[in-house]
Amino acid sequence: MHLKSLTLRGFKSFASATTLRFEPGITCVVGPNGSGKSNVVDALSWVMGEQGAKSLRGGKMEDVIFAGTTGRPPLGRAEVSLTIDNSDGALPIDYAEVTLTRTMFRNGGSEYRLNGDTCRLLDIQELLSDSGIGREMHVIVGQGQLDSVLHADPTGRRAFIEEAAGVLKHRKRKEKALRKLDAMRANLARVQDLSDELR
Ligand code: ATP
Repeated sequence: MHLKSLTLRGFKSFASATTLRFEPGITCVVGPNGSGKSNVVDALSWVMGEQGAKSLRGGKMEDVIFAGTTGRPPLGRAEVSLTIDNSDGALPIDYAEVTLTRTMFRNGGSEYRLNGDTCRLLDIQELLSDSGIGREMHVIVGQGQLDSVLHADPTGRRAFIEEAAGVLKHRKRKEKALRKLDAMRANLARVQDLSDELR
């Protein structure tokens, strides 16, 4: 498995559609300060489902949408597509090539697609969760991130280990199931109240 290409449209400083193609091996992105190198890395984590504005170096999620410059008006949406070579079947999906797309509109709407079909964030998270890449990935080491790993408290350290061990997916499923159970219990209590009133 390797990342084949990344296309940014209206994402941060990339107002026009820009495609980066990656060959197997090492890719270096070079450029002057402030030219958008870190924005490329932000786009990678964003398309894989990153939910934290802070992790994307912004104040709110809409900050990823091109905000305009003196010569160019702001845009209404940001879109990033990541194409992954899956010819070795590392991702549990029956395609030799997988394209993830995430779109966000300035009015707050957002959309995920998997090979062109609309999907849920959960589908993307589950697809990537055993691959070593993904939202909580530690294959992307941002500036200052090593410090945060070294200084993590025991809970934070446990989260790193759980993610590496592939436990995170099951923890999330368990949390989801528990939330459903809680909602079900509340519904049952309501039904019980109604039945008591009717007696
Ligand atoms: P350095 O080498 O200093 O770390 P860099 O090449 O990594 O810099 P980035 O941090 O990726 O640069 O890019 C910063 C630039 O992106 C800034 O000029 C900032 O104005 C621009 N930028 C960030 N968000 C947006 C946005 N939503 N709309 C337009 N421009 C943006």
